[in-house]
Amino acid sequence: MISEMPNVKHLPAERVSSAQVVQEAENLGCANVKVISVHEITLGHWVRLRCQFGCSYFNQRHTCPTFTPTSDEMADILMHYSRAMIIEAPRSADVHSMVLNLETRLREKGFFRAFGMGALPCDLCDVCTIESQCKYPDQARPTLQACGIDVSQTLLNIGWDFAVKFQPCTEGHTIGMVLLD
Ligand code: SF4
Repeated sequence: MISEMPNVKHLPAERVSSAQVVQEAENLGCANVKVISVHEITLGHWVRLRCQFGCSYFNQRHTCPTFTPTSDEMADILMHYSRAMIIEAPRSADVHSMVLNLETRLREKGFFRAFGMGALPCDLCDVCTIESQCKYPDQARPTLQACGIDVSQTLLNIGWDFAVKFQPCTEGHTIGMVLLD
């Protein structure tokens, strides 16, 4: 059974403006931030092909396919959200830490469903425990690509042509996302 965190004052998320959410991300050092409608997120069955036939992490991390939602499952998940925040981290920054930190801060502000997704396969353990359970499920987060999100098309949808990289989940890929509400 999952219990509520004690001593955390939850504010109704609707009282938190998009500008305040953006400010949180900028305070953490994000280079670019945008709050978008989830309708601007493009999903694709084909995205999984790039993971399965081209990435050595496929089926080797709890945060990568086949352990992550398919694009159909992600479409169902997105039906429970209206907004998401896209971040671009500076090249030298840790995108995973940024989205996890933002997810925590936003949950404390009342975004109960806040959930972060990163840019690179999880590297918290030397060897992922795929034969059993994740060792750090509170910290491990999937990549956008691993959840069937067409990252390049989504960036084009929101006018972030400058951030498009055609090889996702590689070094220098610095796009993360936090689902908000
Ligand atoms: S935290 Fe460890 S066990 Fe969990 S996904 Fe990351 S590498 Fe695997």
